[in-house]
Amino acid sequence: AAAAAKKKAKAIRVHELGGPEVMRWEEVELEDPKEGEIRIRTTAIGVNFIDVYYRKGVYAAPALPFTPGREAVGVVTAVGPGLTGRKVGDVVAYAGNPMGSYAQEQVLPASVAVPVPPSVDHKEAASVMLKGMTAHVLLRRVFKVESGHTVLVHAAAGGVGSLLCQWASALGATVIGTVSTEEKATQATQDGCHHVIMYTKEDVVTRVREITSGKGVNVVYDSVGKDTYKASVECLASRGFLVSFGQSSGLPDPIPMSDLASKSLFLTRPSLMHYTATRDELLESAGEVFANVANGVLRVRVNHTYPLSEAARAHADLESRKTSGSIVLIPDT
Ligand code: NDP
Repeated sequence: AAAAAKKKAKAIRVHELGGPEVMRWEEVELEDPKEGEIRIRTTAIGVNFIDVYYRKGVYAAPALPFTPGREAVGVVTAVGPGLTGRKVGDVVAYAGNPMGSYAQEQVLPASVAVPVPPSVDHKEAASVMLKGMTAHVLLRRVFKVESGHTVLVHAAAGGVGSLLCQWASALGATVIGTVSTEEKATQATQDGCHHVIMYTKEDVVTRVREITSGKGVNVVYDSVGKDTYKASVECLASRGFLVSFGQSSGLPDPIPMSDLASKSLFLTRPSLMHYTATRDELLESAGEVFANVANGVLRVRVNHTYPLSEAARAHADLESRKTSGSIVLIPDT
């Protein structure tokens, strides 16, 4: 007898690498979850700059065509054979692996899904999982920010930037943020930035020297890359940390060892996935994030929502620096 026809759902598919326009809204066949897997009906999907890197080929893309996206919140619709601890109807979120969240339904390993506390709505959870866990890892594990530290955050009004500033400020650090516009400066100030530098009008290195009385900062969180890394090195105090965690403006050039030697600097290039590789690390990071949302340390800025079918517009806006805070895609029904 012929096999039963597979259920279908719609997803964004990338058939060739390129600009936002390569993302197409298409029907795909729905897989059943295998052992250890669950299937979720997505309710809110987080947009992250990493989705742009894969779409453009900055990071080696999976086989074409592929469904982009690495963060979603959803309701469990099916569980794999023998799976315990998860049931149909559970609300869960994931961030990181696997790719494929720009879809009405997605299959994932149950081990990457974490329960979403009922006090956090789905859009908020999709705004804060990947970006918030990144902030946790950067501020608590890659470099441990403490009261008295001075911290420089580039793209301070961005998705990760907004959370970094709020959290660093709550930890007692003096926070300096860079932004491109007045509106973003206002948001960064509300998010706990003690000093905001509008890099479109002011020289970042000069301003940081003024603010720190020539000493420099203990740590720079640099997600902009090519356009900022040189200034980031110059802004550091003796024995400071350059945490390069992204390249929104392009890959930075190699940094000569002699640039680090001049101030005994540290350089690290962390990835969230390596810091949430075990279930314990994942639950710790997600737990810290949701606890800080619940206790008000983190205000979740869901500044932009788009229908999933219009993901291309979300990417175009993200890449042209039009957005602030988080971007969420809502699956079309
Ligand atoms: P953002 O919301 O921060 O968006 C990017 C922002 O970067 C823009 O709004 C803009 O702010 C600034 N920017 C400066 N130059 C450029 C440029 N040439 N093109 C585009 N934007 C530019 O995005 P996300 O919060 O999603 O991600 C922030 C960064 O963090 C990304 O680089 C991402 O890859 C990285 N990341 C890394 C992780 C890791 O594990 N290593 C995990 C998560 C995120 P402004 O207008 O103020 O200049």
